[in-house]
Amino acid sequence: MDCIFCKIINKEIPSDGVIYENDDAVAILDINPIAPGHALVIPKIHSENLLGLPDEKIGGVFAAVKKVSEMIQGSLNPDGFTYGVNDRIGQTVSHLHILIIPRYKGDGGTSIHQVVSNKPKESLAEIKAKILKHGN
Ligand code: AMP
Ligand code: ZN
Repeated sequence: MDCIFCKIINKEIPSDGVIYENDDAVAILDINPIAPGHALVIPKIHSENLLGLPDEKIGGVFAAVKKVSEMIQGSLNPDGFTYGVNDRIGQTVSHLHILIIPRYKGDGGTSIHQVVSNKPKESLAEIKAKILKHGN
């Protein structure tokens, strides 16, 4: 499969940026960082997005997000974090990855609420009814 993140995980191409690994995920420094310590947690199994990630992998992947956050907090001392996942829209690498963006006061960034401006025309009750009608 022609997937850059699978190639890094399978060590088919070298990555100097690996900072953490567990059974389910690898964490690397983003090659094009938007902040010091900008990192990516990448599931070892290929899935384009969260919807395709097997349930039994979720715990290990999220544990890696926490561990890497601890490592960054302890070393780079950011004032906070913004976490993100681009799922299809805005996604440039079609292998699920969780962005860990260390935040620093005065870094020019804003809240994740600014990512989109698409206020719903339906009420919350209507949207809730649609979601619940679909089931789980
Ligand atoms: P996204 O837009 O959410 O798909 O983000 C993909 C991210 O992967 C971008 O921030 C890229 O800079 C980063 N990226 C792409 N190739 C590599 C690589 N070989 N090593 C590290 N980061 C990469
Ligand atoms: Zn992949």
